[in-house]
Amino acid sequence: MLQLEDSKCDLLITGAGPAGLMAATWAARCGIHARIVDKRGTKIFNGQADGLQCRSLEIFDSFGFADRVCKESNHMLEICLWNPDETGRIRRTDRIPDTIPGISRFQQVVLHQGRIERFFLDSLKEYSDIEIERGVLPEQLEIDHSKAEDERAYPIKVKIRHLDDDEATPVQNGTNVPDGLFRSSLAKDDTDDLIRKSRGKEGTTEVIRTKYMIGCDGAHSWTRRQLDFHMQGEQTDFIWGVLDIIPITNFPDIRMRCAIHSAESGSIMIIPRENRLVRFYIQLNEVNSAGQQVDRSKITPEIILKAAQRIMSPYKLTYDYCDWWTAYQIGQRVGNSFSCDDRVFLAGDAVHTHSPKAGQGMNVSMQDTYNLGWKIGLVVKGLAKRSILRTYQSERRRIAQDLIAFDHRFSRLFSGRPAKDAADEAGISMAEFKDAFEKGNMFASGLAVDYGASILVAKPGDSADQGDGTDVGPIINSIDKLVGKQDLAGNIKLGMRFPSYQVLNQSDARPWHFGQYLKSDGRFRLIVLAGNLKDGKQWKRLQGFGESLAKPDSFLHRFTPSAKPVDSVIEILVIHSAPRKQVELLDLHEIFHPFDEKRGWDYEKVFVDDVSYHEGHGEAYKNFGVDKESGCVVIARPDQYVGWIGELEDVRDIDRYFSEVLIPQI
Ligand code: FAD
Repeated sequence: MLQLEDSKCDLLITGAGPAGLMAATWAARCGIHARIVDKRGTKIFNGQADGLQCRSLEIFDSFGFADRVCKESNHMLEICLWNPDETGRIRRTDRIPDTIPGISRFQQVVLHQGRIERFFLDSLKEYSDIEIERGVLPEQLEIDHSKAEDERAYPIKVKIRHLDDDEATPVQNGTNVPDGLFRSSLAKDDTDDLIRKSRGKEGTTEVIRTKYMIGCDGAHSWTRRQLDFHMQGEQTDFIWGVLDIIPITNFPDIRMRCAIHSAESGSIMIIPRENRLVRFYIQLNEVNSAGQQVDRSKITPEIILKAAQRIMSPYKLTYDYCDWWTAYQIGQRVGNSFSCDDRVFLAGDAVHTHSPKAGQGMNVSMQDTYNLGWKIGLVVKGLAKRSILRTYQSERRRIAQDLIAFDHRFSRLFSGRPAKDAADEAGISMAEFKDAFEKGNMFASGLAVDYGASILVAKPGDSADQGDGTDVGPIINSIDKLVGKQDLAGNIKLGMRFPSYQVLNQSDARPWHFGQYLKSDGRFRLIVLAGNLKDGKQWKRLQGFGESLAKPDSFLHRFTPSAKPVDSVIEILVIHSAPRKQVELLDLHEIFHPFDEKRGWDYEKVFVDDVSYHEGHGEAYKNFGVDKESGCVVIARPDQYVGWIGELEDVRDIDRYFSEVLIPQI
């Protein structure tokens, strides 16, 4: 077999599903040399995951493509609960909002995974020359552990094989209805990806030496097996029947998300989708880990439809068009470790699997690499210390554990038989189910994520818990530990994502959701809630803060390469609360609206919490829980999570925060 010349890269990603594509997107935005390989010859074109939480949409917005999702997706606003009455007939018993009102500027939407992948691919093309190398199989992984801490080393060696077309074409489910690997007649602009681009490398092998690697290669992860890491959890697997059809039915809530519990025939989750499609989820059966009890290959769309008809009776359900279906087998498990030497990482389904009914798989998988991608990007560029990489496991493994616990609780309530009356102890209380659904909505939105104390989150707590209860050492400095002042901002929580409310641009009065300015471009942000600038004392505080930041030896200058603009590592954004018309932008210290010889003043850094002409008042200070007179300062990480909160005089603490995380450039 022909062997190509050895090559080098900063980051190798195995698997181009949602987790891998998110990692590649960060690499593109941070400008590092990344390669992403997938054993499959094409992207997926329909089916698989489809729910997008509001946090995922916020993330997409920070990369600039949430608008495409919002336009094409179905927006889910209400959930209807259907339960059997005393005669056993199903009735609508409740309606609840799908997304808790007010928690985000986005609400949950549904759009199939193939389209989401499309948006990532287009974004990669726009910002980089990273292309998915399809039909590529990694065959061997070697890690030189002795070089793990050497920042310049390429300690990972991966041998890959470029497959021929037959090897790169996945096997279908054995029917003529597509199961997600072929093109939907409803999907758009995927033509380029239908035919694998031949690179003339088929049948060759290549050795890649890389600084970092992320295994995003799904539930049967090859990378995980090479590391000899394991999945821990339930030994039982469930089989889920999933049908994407255009239903012909007299069921009145077919365009609502519904959870239907029938008296004796099981339960179904209905998810109304784009293009008149509707997804039906039915838990069909349990199998043990050896897959013995049910032969998954015997399941057909007709079997899934019949189960749906029984549950939804007396309403009728048929279809003429089926877009996709699957019989998908999954357990509830979490990987025992997410990282080897903080050089090779695992993300997504490779380290957590669970049922599809809460719509979490794709979201949590993307959010794993959303947490990790910028960290690797900044370390590779020599801007941040390698120690920040240890926070990946401590932050994300706990989320995976919470997810599995949530799935456990919810599974029992979703799949159990409804109780006939209060004395029916074997049955499930429908009041309890509704309560769990409502409470679960906060978790399911992705906004409950609350990262623990670490060098990136200055909050109380001094253990470097890796998400499995083991303390692995000083990822935080426990001597004289830096702790942010949470009481200055009641609703901006240390460890949680910075919330967004409408503010106005000081220079042109245009309203913006502030979150739109927290772009995913690898920069930390110092968000200066400058308070009432009409008050002379407060004005002086802000100008004094500006002078400290502008000093040549300030953290801002020390951690920014001298040839780069002053805001290229840490961007300063100001929101003040004085009346807009009584403040002049150019009166503020120059550091808050830096000057560039070619582009003039920067007009996109100072905002005001004031009433707009056409879109009301965002009441940002009130919503942030920040005092309108005296304000505060917040450090937001490149992924928008809050790292520290303090006062305008706390420059030394800000310096300490960045000194733990960043590498001096001068
Ligand atoms: P994946 O999307 O699985 O991506 C992994 C990628 O790695 C794939 O592109 C694969 O080709 C590639 N790969 C695998 N092994 C290798 C290797 N050795 N070398 C190189 N590349 C490799 N979720 C829901 O919420 N609802 C559903 O109905 C639903 N249905 C599903 C049906 C199927 C058949 C599958 C497989 C998954 C389904 N999921 C569903 C789960 C959802 O798709 C995942 O949770 C989500 O895609 C996780 O993203 P990921 O990037 O971690 O993994």
